[in-house]
Amino acid sequence: MESREIVLIEGDGVGKEISSSMTKVVDEAVKAAYKGKRRLSFIKAEAGVVSLEKYGATLTDDVLSLIKKHKVAIKGPLMTPVGRGIRSVNVELRQKLDLFVCQRPVEYFEGVPSPIKRPENVNMVVFRENTEDIYAGIEWSAGSDGAKKVIEFLKRDMGVDKIRFPETSAIGIKPVSEEGSKRLIKAAIDFAIKEHRRNVTFVHKGNIMKFTEGGFLNWGNELSKEKYGAYERDGRLYIPRTGESDLEIKSCIADAFLQNIILKSEEYDVIATLNLNGDYISDALSALVGGIGIAPGANINTSTGVAVFEATHGTAPDIAGKGIVNPLSIILSAAMMLDYIGYGEAATLIKSAVRTVLKNGFVTKDLYDTMLKNSQKGVLLSTEEFTETLISNLV
Ligand code: ATP
Repeated sequence: MESREIVLIEGDGVGKEISSSMTKVVDEAVKAAYKGKRRLSFIKAEAGVVSLEKYGATLTDDVLSLIKKHKVAIKGPLMTPVGRGIRSVNVELRQKLDLFVCQRPVEYFEGVPSPIKRPENVNMVVFRENTEDIYAGIEWSAGSDGAKKVIEFLKRDMGVDKIRFPETSAIGIKPVSEEGSKRLIKAAIDFAIKEHRRNVTFVHKGNIMKFTEGGFLNWGNELSKEKYGAYERDGRLYIPRTGESDLEIKSCIADAFLQNIILKSEEYDVIATLNLNGDYISDALSALVGGIGIAPGANINTSTGVAVFEATHGTAPDIAGKGIVNPLSIILSAAMMLDYIGYGEAATLIKSAVRTVLKNGFVTKDLYDTMLKNSQKGVLLSTEEFTETLISNLV
């Protein structure tokens, strides 16, 4: 029998509840898809507050080694203790495992309340660069020695005279590299080719930040031509494919993109973008198709193959332990994970069960409340009932 082990970090707050729901659904989906020929087991690991109390660190080397050994992990939300100088575990995982791709599929499921008229037109996969940009954490607070030194250096050695209030400015540095941009864009294009998607759009603010965001765009176009043989036709760029239409390579300025996803979402498919843009875009897109409790995600290093799938929402302490949390974010992340490890049949079973259940109006409280506001009919289920309903639809 073929067997695969996955590291599971349950997480804080609602983490236990959603993880328990997810493991039940995955176990049943694997059984239903492979009838005992394939197995999947979860190895529990601790991180976050629990780990801090037991081992003095929110992320231990043992957990990192475990993830490196098994390559694939899935996790619930983790709380970052405030005011103790402790870094977020999410950030640490990304940095220590060099998980440079943040992949967020954004897909509409019929029945889910949406603020737009045609949410079924939203079907995108966002590839957000995860290691660079203004999010790299290179910052000095206003008035600090560091900020003063950098401002002095910029004025004296670099001839910068554009800092409007130098005495009271905080400073942040935005590194965007050719290497970092190209590896992210390559992951997006490879995905688009493998999944037979229609187009890849580079989203950037290169009109203002010419060398960082503009660099991202230029490196993307360069990579498309040099590595994938992209050609120009009628002022547009295409990567040749056989047996299907060529893959279009597009670009869009970030502010226009945020309008376009509401006005003409059907025009976009795979998105490659920088860290900060990606942060805004992922949340804006997920709001169009049901929001915080549903959106799945993964952080991946496509070179080493190490990937951490995750619930994209926070710990939601206000509803923890009440049995009302929506487990779909981590369940849909698990479906992504199953696809990633080659258990595609089990992933398909889960997604089709989710589709059926939502279409029939079975939802947890978060979606139910929105449905009530929209005068939409639904059936309110607890997390456990929702999980059982999903499992009974794994056919
Ligand atoms: P953190 O501080 O860890 O980011 P948070 O709860 O403040 O956690 P979010 O995840 O953004 O941050 O959640 C905001 C609110 O949305 C929660 O308080 C909760 O009421 C609701 N929420 C979040 N996730 C879910 C979910 N999976 N199911 C139902 N409600 C959710």
